[in-house]
Amino acid sequence: MCGIVGYIGNSKASPILINGLTKLEYRGYDSAGISTIEDGKIGIVKNKGRVKELECSKDIDSLNGTIGIAHTRWATHGKPSSINAHPHLDCHENFSVVHNGIIENHSELKDFLKNAGYSFVSDTDTEVIPNLIDYYYSKETATHNKFAIAVNKATKDLNRKFCNCCYFKIRT
Ligand code: GLU
Repeated sequence: MCGIVGYIGNSKASPILINGLTKLEYRGYDSAGISTIEDGKIGIVKNKGRVKELECSKDIDSLNGTIGIAHTRWATHGKPSSINAHPHLDCHENFSVVHNGIIENHSELKDFLKNAGYSFVSDTDTEVIPNLIDYYYSKETATHNKFAIAVNKATKDLNRKFCNCCYFKIRT
């Protein structure tokens, strides 16, 4: 179980996301994190511990994007740590994901992606999601809706339990 917040608007996203996470903290509080997009780049700040620690972390002010996603975690796969905290990126740093729930077939998907050249840094089940999206995105030949098509294909591969996700991409 976890809390997920997303924001798209004209204001700086991080204070709005922190406020949302604070309200959702009862859903999970072993770690917390935020991604925003700025100048076509994903910035991430994430920490082990409560939302207050994220709010007070020295890097939080560096997130100036006005589009963002955020997560407060209750670990199911991988201990509470800053590496295992969400959001998670694919290994090419194109896609950022926060996720609630369990990916039951994560080991098998990890093996498939490793064989396709993907690498992983965390112990979470979640990290297969951005990598799978990147995999399908890189193979997609359609010129429109590539992101939606890739997310749809990736989602079909996941054996999910209690799941919700927020995704974003930096490429068009
Ligand atoms: N299974 C994911 C993890 O352990 C998500 C847990 C959650 O829902 O907070 O990171």
